[in-house]
Amino acid sequence: MIARTLFQPEHEQFRGMVRSFAQKEIVPNLLRWDEAGGIDRKLWNRCGELGILCPAIPAEYGGAGADRLFSMIVLEELAPLGGLGISLALHSDIVAPYLLSFATEELKHRYLPAMAAGRTIGALAMSEPGGGSDLKAIRTTARRVAGGYRLNGSKIFISNGGECGLAVVVAKTDPDAAAKGISLFVVDAAMPGFEKGRRLGKIGLKAQDTAELFFNDVFVPDGHRLGEENQGFGYLMRELPWERLQLAIAAVASCEAALALTIGYTRERRAFSQPILDFQNTRFKLAELKSETQIAQVFVDRCMQLVLENALDPTSAAMAKYWCTDLQCKVVDECLQFHGGYGYMQEYAIARAFIDARAQRIYGGTNEIMKDIISRSL
Ligand SMILES: Cc1cc2nc3c(=O)[nH]c(=O)nc-3n(C[C@H](O)[C@H](O)[C@H](O)COP(=O)(O)OP(=O)(O)OC[C@H]3O[C@@H](n4cnc5c(N)ncnc54)[C@H](O)[C@@H]3O)c2cc1C
Repeated sequence: MIARTLFQPEHEQFRGMVRSFAQKEIVPNLLRWDEAGGIDRKLWNRCGELGILCPAIPAEYGGAGADRLFSMIVLEELAPLGGLGISLALHSDIVAPYLLSFATEELKHRYLPAMAAGRTIGALAMSEPGGGSDLKAIRTTARRVAGGYRLNGSKIFISNGGECGLAVVVAKTDPDAAAKGISLFVVDAAMPGFEKGRRLGKIGLKAQDTAELFFNDVFVPDGHRLGEENQGFGYLMRELPWERLQLAIAAVASCEAALALTIGYTRERRAFSQPILDFQNTRFKLAELKSETQIAQVFVDRCMQLVLENALDPTSAAMAKYWCTDLQCKVVDECLQFHGGYGYMQEYAIARAFIDARAQRIYGGTNEIMKDIISRSL
C-alpha cells in the first residue's frame, strides 16, 4: 500500500481523539438518530467542546487556528457515519470561511466563536425549488431599502437548515444581471420573516437535517452583506475547489469504511463450508475495489496538498468530486451484495452506507455539472 504522507504526529493524535469520540458517542446512536430523523442537538455543543468544529478558523474568532488537514480528518472519520462529517464540514469549512473572508469584524466576532462552540449552526442556502444547477437563474431577491435590503424568496434542500442559527443566503441584487447580479447575505434565524419549513423526508442520510427556508420580506441590514454588492458569484467560485474536494474526501473515506466492513463480514460468513472471502469472485471483486479506492486516495491526497498550497484548480476538483463519488456508489453497491440478505437490512451499516452514498452524486454540483466543467478544459 502507498503510505499517506500528508499528516504529522499532531494530526494523527487528533484523528485518534475524533475516532474514539465517534466510537463512544456517535456509533451507538446512529440507528436511533436515523429513526428520529435527526441527531441530538447537544452533539454540536459536544463537537465544539472537543475542537472538532471550525478547526481552521483563527483562534481570535474561537477556532483552533489549525491547517485544513484537521478538517480533512474530521471528514474522513465522520463522513462514513450517516454523513455526519458532511454536515459538520458544511458548517465549519464552507459557511464559516465565507464569514471569515467577507464579513465585517463585528459579524465575525458575533458569529464565529458561537459557531466554533456549536451554539450556532451554519447553513448555505443556494438551491431553490425552481433549480439548483443553474445558480445564475435563482429567483430570491434582495431589494435595496434604507439601511439594508428586503429579502424575498425560498430555498430548498438546505443542509443544517432546520437547526441553523444563521444562513449564508445567495440572492439577486440585480435581477437582470445573471452572475453579476448576485450577492451573499448572512441571515440570522431570528430576523423577522425568516421561516423554516418542514424537515424534508429523504431516502438516505436520514439523521441529516435538510429543510426548506422561506424569506418573507426579511430586513437584512447592510452590515450583513458579505463583501461587495453583486460580487457574490465570484466569492462562491473562489472556495469551490476546496468545497468540492471535501465531498471527494468523504467519498474515499466511505469506500474505505465499506471495504473494511465487507472484508470483516465475508471472513466470518460461511457458505458451502468455506468463508465467503475465500471464493475467488469475492477476492477478485474486493481486490478491484481496493485498487480503485487506493487510486482515488492518492489523487485526493495530491489535491489536498494543492489545497494547502492554495493551488487546487476547479477542473481537478471537479474530477475528484465526480470520480470519487461515482466510485463510492459502486463500492457500496458491490459491498452490499457480499452481505447477501443482511445487506438489505436497515440495521446493517452497509445498508445505510448504500442509501447514504446516493446523494453524493447530486449535491455540491451534480456529477453531470462536474463533467461539464471538466469538458471546458478539453
Ligand atoms: C441531501 C441534500 C443536501 C443538499 N444540501 C444543500 C445545501 O446545503 N445547500 C444548497 O444550496 N443546496 C443543497 N442541496 C441541493 C443540491 O445542491 C441540488 O439538488 C443540486 O445542485 C441539483 O440541483 P436540482 O436538484 O435543482 O437539479 P436540476 O438542476 O434540476 O438538475 C436535474 C438533472 O439535470 C441535470 N442537469 C442540469 N443542468 C445540466 C447541464 N447543464 N448539463 C447536463 N445535465 C444537467 C442535473 O445533473 C440533474 O441530473 C442538497 C441536495 C441534497 C439531495
